[in-house]
Amino acid sequence: MSHDTLPLGACADDTSPAQAALPLGAPPLPPGVPLLPARMVNEYVYCPRLAYLEWVQGEWRDSADTVEGRQAHRRIDKPRGQPPGVGGDPNAPADGDDAPRVHVHSLELSSDALGLVARLDLAEFDGRRAVPVDYKRGKRPHVARGAYEPERVQLCAQGLLLEAHGYEATEGVLYFAASRERMPVVFDDELKAATRAAAAGLRLVASGGQIPPPLENSPKCPRCSLAAICLPDELHYLRTRQTPPRPLAVDAPPTLPLYVQARGAKVAKKGELLEISVEDAPAATARLAEVSQVVLQGGVYLTGPALHELMARQIPVTWLSHGGWFLGHTVGLGHKNVELRTAQYRASFDAARCLRLARELVAGKIRNQRTLLRRNWKPTSGESDSLPDEVAAGFRHDIDAAERARSLEQLLGLEGNAAARYFAHFRQMIAPEKRAGGDVPGPAWGFDFERRTRRPPVDEVNALLSYGYSLLARTLAVTLTAVGFDAMRGLYHQSRYGRPALALDMMEPFRPLIVDSAVLTVINNGEVGAGDFVAAGGAVNLNERGRRAFIAAFERRLAQDVTHPLFGYAAAYRQIVEIQ
Ligand code: SF4
Repeated sequence: MSHDTLPLGACADDTSPAQAALPLGAPPLPPGVPLLPARMVNEYVYCPRLAYLEWVQGEWRDSADTVEGRQAHRRIDKPRGQPPGVGGDPNAPADGDDAPRVHVHSLELSSDALGLVARLDLAEFDGRRAVPVDYKRGKRPHVARGAYEPERVQLCAQGLLLEAHGYEATEGVLYFAASRERMPVVFDDELKAATRAAAAGLRLVASGGQIPPPLENSPKCPRCSLAAICLPDELHYLRTRQTPPRPLAVDAPPTLPLYVQARGAKVAKKGELLEISVEDAPAATARLAEVSQVVLQGGVYLTGPALHELMARQIPVTWLSHGGWFLGHTVGLGHKNVELRTAQYRASFDAARCLRLARELVAGKIRNQRTLLRRNWKPTSGESDSLPDEVAAGFRHDIDAAERARSLEQLLGLEGNAAARYFAHFRQMIAPEKRAGGDVPGPAWGFDFERRTRRPPVDEVNALLSYGYSLLARTLAVTLTAVGFDAMRGLYHQSRYGRPALALDMMEPFRPLIVDSAVLTVINNGEVGAGDFVAAGGAVNLNERGRRAFIAAFERRLAQDVTHPLFGYAAAYRQIVEIQ
């Protein structure tokens, strides 16, 4: 016996004519449930995970496509025209040839019954008939239905909204700017049902609070602006250990921090640029789309419009005192990814998970300290010409012990031992001609280093290390906050004294690779010297010129490519930090 699906309202033995089905309107949205932008329905049809990331978690990143799209829309984004009245309005125009045609630009429509909202690029009205027109920046694709399904669905959602406002909308138009073609899209029952189903599907996924899985090896991902956040191939690889990931996360041009520290500097917004002037004289400009964060040191003035734009784009502003102390951040509304923070807090109360992660971080840091010493060992006469065996054996012991540590307290002790061993030999990485104390004949002044001193740094090398670690901590804090973590809640470092504990956790393996390496570069290349420091009250600190030289070396190091140890593709340290 077959089990064919019957239309609603029919029985198996029903011989009467089929009863006509009336589509029921959706019940009104419960209070507090936001309207779904038609653009999100488009994203959902493209990839449910993309829609979730954007709509629920508030992720957004510009790609070349989105920037071009925004520019293409600029001209048509200005509201113009009024739609003719309908639904009993005494001024409603009659149907027919005499009704004037009306073009309305940038028309916003919403409907509680549909649960949708949209801003229509253009709506063409002819009496009660209305045609939504959606502008696309590219050429018309040569595909079966004349356009891709997500775009057809988005247009149909606009048609449903026009219908909900009393107009007849039986078809719409996709206008492809690059090829100047109008592609009509008929709103048939199939497309309307697909549009309603997509809107309902996204609402269901959003209310479930579970992010959909990434697409697998999809050709859509390389064009996706959120590939670096979604990490589809990396997640798949971690699960299956099969196909190595494509380097999608590192293809996008990285954005960079903008540092301003000149006295009397002003940062203002001009169109898509930030303009920096000093004492009212233009000094530099930076494209907003290429700025990841703005770091202001000392008495730098940031204008209100510039601050508003930075907050709207979720670009954080870091405020440092004249001496480089971190005073705070200014951010927009913050990240919407509440689930990630909830998972982070849950993990932070799970002692076994904290210990597992802390072991990896500390063992990784010690391994990287050993590597840096091996690569940069600079002997003088009478010294071992490479890292001595007993020192290497000591590091090996520290790494093994860290990987087997039974508590965070034990791990802290092991980390301290390894740090003492590492800094006891740090001087061997400074070029002999740059060292103080006459390792080789040379200038009287040189860099001296006996041990790590933090509060305060008592010599130039410690001043460079301290400044570098504060830059790295800030970089990690901004990165973690940008992807939705709470940088203050750590898993290894304790969340107290206002420390960005998670940033301190995550920076452990990167300290030697990024900061110590940049310190050695500026010393050994002669990029900083005696005139780049100030000494007062037993403390040594970098002055403005020294800070500028070190920031340049630090940023160069972050931009340097290395091979990702797990995923095998090349990426800049800056991107490795983000992927981590
Ligand atoms: S990268 Fe791929 S899986 Fe991830 S959101 Fe984009 S399209 Fe979806």
